[in-house]
Amino acid sequence: KGPDPALQFIKERMNSVKHKILVLSGKGGVGKSTFTAQLGFAFASEESVQVGVMDIDVCGPSIPKIMGLDGEQVHQSLSGWSPVYVQDNLGVMSIGFMLSDPDEAVVWRGPKKNGIIKQFLKDVDWGDLDFMLVDTPPGTSDEHLSIAQYLKESEIDGAIIITTPQEVALQDVRKEIDFCRKVKIPILGVVENMSGFICPNCKGESIIFAPTTGGAKKMAEDLNIKYLGSIPLDPRIGKACDMGISFLDEYPDSPACKAYLDIISEI
Ligand code: ADP
Repeated sequence: KGPDPALQFIKERMNSVKHKILVLSGKGGVGKSTFTAQLGFAFASEESVQVGVMDIDVCGPSIPKIMGLDGEQVHQSLSGWSPVYVQDNLGVMSIGFMLSDPDEAVVWRGPKKNGIIKQFLKDVDWGDLDFMLVDTPPGTSDEHLSIAQYLKESEIDGAIIITTPQEVALQDVRKEIDFCRKVKIPILGVVENMSGFICPNCKGESIIFAPTTGGAKKMAEDLNIKYLGSIPLDPRIGKACDMGISFLDEYPDSPACKAYLDIISEI
């Protein structure tokens, strides 16, 4: 059996994407999709920067909702599937756009997931992009192996790993790091999300998920990877996600916005 002919097509499409970044997490619910979406909004806030967000969380696509594209459908043209656009320079592709009912469960085995990821890379008319951000499911499963296999051929920049400060989440981050090393994906760094909550009334900080924050920083140092920074818990982040809007545009003066921007400047 010769090499998969799709690999060549993918390589050609991906030639017009300057930077490819995966967003990973060991556990679900740590804020990975939120981070991907906010990163997309932030990069695209500069009109000249072209951004694509590819959601390969086949069984739990949340990107359409949090980027304000619920209920949208993809369109087919001669040059392939067109992404759904938030604005001119911010396109999104997700299995969520292909479900007739958003509550429909996607019950697919590995080969079918692999097939759709291959199509997202090969058949979507992304155009020239400065950044492609890939939101993945939690853990290291079929989707991760597929994307690693396909993107390795075309110089992936690397992966950002999102975690909470809790030891159970950090444990899984170590696995994620090991996965990246095994499949030879560079690690751009680790982000600690939901690290502490500042009470809007008394301004005191409560540590919600661990006895202390800073666990991710220490782990990153121990494992010799870059620590990108921490984002506090802020209920307005969830609110912005539910509304499908950019948290950074909506709450530019918040500490969480500052934290996001500091992290983005480190990437
Ligand atoms: P994942 O992609 O890791 O499963 P999500 O991005 O869907 O996680 O986030 C899980 C939930 O946490 C969502 O309801 C989201 O709005 C919320 N969330 C994410 N980050 C924060 C934060 N820093 N502060 C408050 N809520 C957050």
